[in-house]
Amino acid sequence: MLHEDKNKQEKYILASQVISFCLLAIVILVAISFKDQLIYQVGYYHSTIMFFVLLPLIALVRFVTIQYNNLIIEYVINIFYYIISAVFLVFLPSSSFEILLIMPIIIMALKYGTRHSLATFFCSFVVLFYISYRKDFSSIDSDLMYAIVFFLVAWLLGNMRDTETKILRKLEKLASYDGLTDLFNHRSFQGLIDRELAKAAERKGALSLIMLDIDYFKVYNDSFGHQKGDLVLKQVAAILKECTPESCYCTRYGGEEFALILPGIGIDRARCVGETIRSKIENTVIPGMEVLPKGRLTISVGIAEYPFMANNKEKLIQKADEALYKAKFVSKNKVEIYYSVFDELSLGLMDEEKDLFNSIRTLTMVINAKDKYTYGHSERTMQLAQKLAEKIGMENESVKELIYSALLHDIGKIEVAREILNKPSKLSPKEWEVLKQHPQWGADIIRPLKSLKGTVDIVRHHHENYDGSGYPLGLKGKEIPLGARILRIIDSFDAMTTNRPYREGLTEAQALENLKNYSGLYYDPFLLEEFAQMFA
Ligand code: GH3
Ligand code: MG
Ligand code: MG
Repeated sequence: MLHEDKNKQEKYILASQVISFCLLAIVILVAISFKDQLIYQVGYYHSTIMFFVLLPLIALVRFVTIQYNNLIIEYVINIFYYIISAVFLVFLPSSSFEILLIMPIIIMALKYGTRHSLATFFCSFVVLFYISYRKDFSSIDSDLMYAIVFFLVAWLLGNMRDTETKILRKLEKLASYDGLTDLFNHRSFQGLIDRELAKAAERKGALSLIMLDIDYFKVYNDSFGHQKGDLVLKQVAAILKECTPESCYCTRYGGEEFALILPGIGIDRARCVGETIRSKIENTVIPGMEVLPKGRLTISVGIAEYPFMANNKEKLIQKADEALYKAKFVSKNKVEIYYSVFDELSLGLMDEEKDLFNSIRTLTMVINAKDKYTYGHSERTMQLAQKLAEKIGMENESVKELIYSALLHDIGKIEVAREILNKPSKLSPKEWEVLKQHPQWGADIIRPLKSLKGTVDIVRHHHENYDGSGYPLGLKGKEIPLGARILRIIDSFDAMTTNRPYREGLTEAQALENLKNYSGLYYDPFLLEEFAQMFA
């Protein structure tokens, strides 16, 4: 918008420049009418050329060069103007046409401010003096008056232009920067990422996006008030700025969220930047940080890279955001690179499997959206299940079935009300009954998909206990499908090690200790032992 207005202003100035050349043309015309002397001095022929060729040519050059806005071009045009003025004005007996020498001053003042308007005034003054001298100082009084007026115009307009430029700069800063942290604001973020992605696409380079969100900031605000919170935001912003590599951009995305745009930087270096920021913030002393759950101020970081993980702006932001969400979910105070098992699995798929795969992906996304507490749970379960399956030597086909089962095991939760899934307190017996149906409902959803036949029983029985106390059928020991026994262990392990709003996640060692207490009761002892060895 500002740019458009500026262009408009340029056009007005250009128009007045062209008009001033037209006025000069009139001077030539009048001068030709005094042709006796003129023909003697300049020549009728030359004056006509000046009038019909040179002036339109200068106007044209000015028009073509408008976008360059070049100071040198401006001065060259002014010199032309002065030469023509000096040559022709001396032939006019009246001195009123000398007023035309003010035009370059006005134009330079409006375009470039005081410095150049005063320099142009000096040129106009010299030309005025020359003309006056050639006329034997016959109209020295009015020429002196002109000189004073020229100076006043140069000084006044130039200073006004300088002030306007200063105000414009301030306005631009206000519009592009965040007042509290002095980082680029959200509006600038959008513009910068558009521009840098276009450049990256052109040179076929990389661009990393780092999204950061301060952990438990609401707790800090609630304890000390927003003003103290603001000071912390400033402190964090200063650290971010300090850690932002050269020719990269540090922006306040909103609230207590920040985003770093790193053009030409790949994921490995971006991870280092993220890690440096994370550890610097963790080691910064903040007044009152004892109130925070970890006793220190911490930040979670999500990173995605263009073009490998996302090929446009929306996807890049979404993926960095997903990575950030994952970092928050798993433990906070963590740097996560965007990663999706689905992306990786889809690479090895045959064409006919792709549609089915996409349906599964959509279904798990629905559960993720509905059940925020278990974000990424299916993916993590899948990774651990695959590892354990390979460790105990399961055959390839069964491993594949187990992978799909792990991804799908909670799909029956689609049928469970959001309030039950996201309830932070204990479930009532009635609610519990509803939740317990999800393995059966999951199996029912998958059953019609022929190529997922092998997963139906695993999903259906993933809450059976080894001692027969589980659900839905109360199967015992080896009656429970092997895949279901594996999932039973990993499902519990992941639930224990991730954070919930009402409690911090356990460490891996604590979780394993906990699982061992139920060896032979809930969990298959052999599988549990093998699983524990994976972390040894
Ligand atoms: P999480 O660890 O999940 O990120 O928890 P959180 O409390 O940091 O996040 P949440 O999104 O629940 O709350 C963000 C808080 O940030 C809420 C608001 O009080 C605070 N906040 C946002 N903008 C400002 C600001 O300009 N100044 C101050 N002081 N606080 C802000
Ligand atoms: Mg937030
Ligand atoms: Mg936060």
